[in-house]
Amino acid sequence: MTDARPLTAGVMGWPITHSKSPLIFAHWFQQAGLNGRYCHLAVAEADFETVVSALPKAGFRGVNVTVPHKLSALEIADEATPTARAMGAANVLTFSPEVGVIADNTDGYGFLENLKKGAPAWKSDTSPTVVLGAGGAARAVIHALLADGVSSIRLLNRSAEKAQALANDLPGPIDVIPWTDRSDALEGAGLLVNATSLGMTGKPPLEISLGALPKSAIVTDLVYAPLETDLLAQARANANPIVDGLGMLLHQARPAFRAWFGIDPVVDAALREICLK
Ligand code: NDP
Repeated sequence: MTDARPLTAGVMGWPITHSKSPLIFAHWFQQAGLNGRYCHLAVAEADFETVVSALPKAGFRGVNVTVPHKLSALEIADEATPTARAMGAANVLTFSPEVGVIADNTDGYGFLENLKKGAPAWKSDTSPTVVLGAGGAARAVIHALLADGVSSIRLLNRSAEKAQALANDLPGPIDVIPWTDRSDALEGAGLLVNATSLGMTGKPPLEISLGALPKSAIVTDLVYAPLETDLLAQARANANPIVDGLGMLLHQARPAFRAWFGIDPVVDAALREICLK
């Protein structure tokens, strides 16, 4: 008997109601003319493995995974991509009848796609890149930048030991610089990435002067609430090219849609509008 259930997937976290992923997937289902459904799955940490093991039987093709499940998602997987292993965390689980649960991490892919689409002039092998932050998002960003051939990264984080640990885990041309030197570290840079949570609604501001940053340097912020952070507003005022963080959220969802439903969906202006409402 054929499986007449709609194409099914979801996003699992605790809490989860804030996630925009259902809006993104609904748009892509509609664009592709697919009968699909994508739901929030509020699952407590202790129940993660039990729930994941049951989902394929309920017709799920896969799930996106967010806080607090990203580490467990990698641990319980039958297979993991090299990127997920390098991150030590997964944000996508694909249910394969042959293999079982396959873990991937697409944050770095989303970051790079957003950067390349938003700043087509960016070249990986030119001037140094300054990355602020050493959390999970910074790890994904740096892994993607190194894989793309970036030749010099200046890494700054409030907790220096976390920056050093990240640099040790991801071998490459990374210089760890004290957080207090963040304004001076911009001298001669070609790309500035804010991968801290500073500047996000409800969080403290990111205090930095862009005076030393070349006018040609691209400035991108992973924070997308607000869409134009103070950092991006300051960069815009200085005539630096800017790339906001919403595109990263949208592009990181593409590989999951492709893996589960066999179609590479498009990130377009209509999707951005939907997610900004
Ligand atoms: P983590 O909690 O893992 O890391 C937070 C980072 O922010 C750390 O580097 C931390 O420094 C720094 N930080 C927090 N508070 C302060 C402070 N008061 N002063 C200085 N530094 C501070 O979070 P993630 O890495 O997962 O996410 C970081 C940001 O990126 C979040 O705002 C998140 O929403 C955004 N993000 C956006 C995505 C997108 O698709 N656009 C995808 C993923 C994340 P320390 O180590 O010293 O604590």
